[in-house]
Amino acid sequence: MNKQVALEQIKTDILSQNICPDLAEQATQLVMGDGNVDADIVFIGEAPGKNEDLQGLPFVGASGKFLNEMLAGAGLERADVYITNVVKYRPPNNRDPLPSEKAAFLPFLLEQIRIINPKVIMTLGRHSMEYFLPGAKIGEVHGQMQRVQMDDRELTVIPLFHPAAALYNGSLRQTLIDDFTNAAQAIAKI
Ligand code: URA
Repeated sequence: MNKQVALEQIKTDILSQNICPDLAEQATQLVMGDGNVDADIVFIGEAPGKNEDLQGLPFVGASGKFLNEMLAGAGLERADVYITNVVKYRPPNNRDPLPSEKAAFLPFLLEQIRIINPKVIMTLGRHSMEYFLPGAKIGEVHGQMQRVQMDDRELTVIPLFHPAAALYNGSLRQTLIDDFTNAAQAIAKI
């Protein structure tokens, strides 16, 4: 099965297993992911927002614009990477995803990662970081490359602040840009 078909199957599975029916009922659609299925880098955000819910693509609003800028600054385009979220439906009014919602989507996220098989996972914000680095504090570990064991595989994870948190906070914004640039340079050497 090629990667695109395998990823489509995950979407079919989420729908047929009726994952998070309360979210599904209020959302426009599932937002599975976007980008290159052979990418070396997978970005994982939190959950779709309003624009993402309407367009069916992750990170297409203000945070997405900032993410695109950081990619461009590192000499990358969206088409070079793969972008997804922990939770694939928009939570009502952009509330934080519930622990039960995050847990329900975890197997599907892990399956996406298994199929794409990137060199590095960059988590955006604490909701995706806590999957891979439980108990870690983003203020302490941001930008640092970590090796983590998930199931039977070792993954390389670089936790980053969420672009939405950094968007309007000057110092956090610069920290995220610096972490991003350093991470891209480190990955190029892997
Ligand atoms: N924030 C996220 O975490 N994900 C998106 O797709 C958009 C905004």
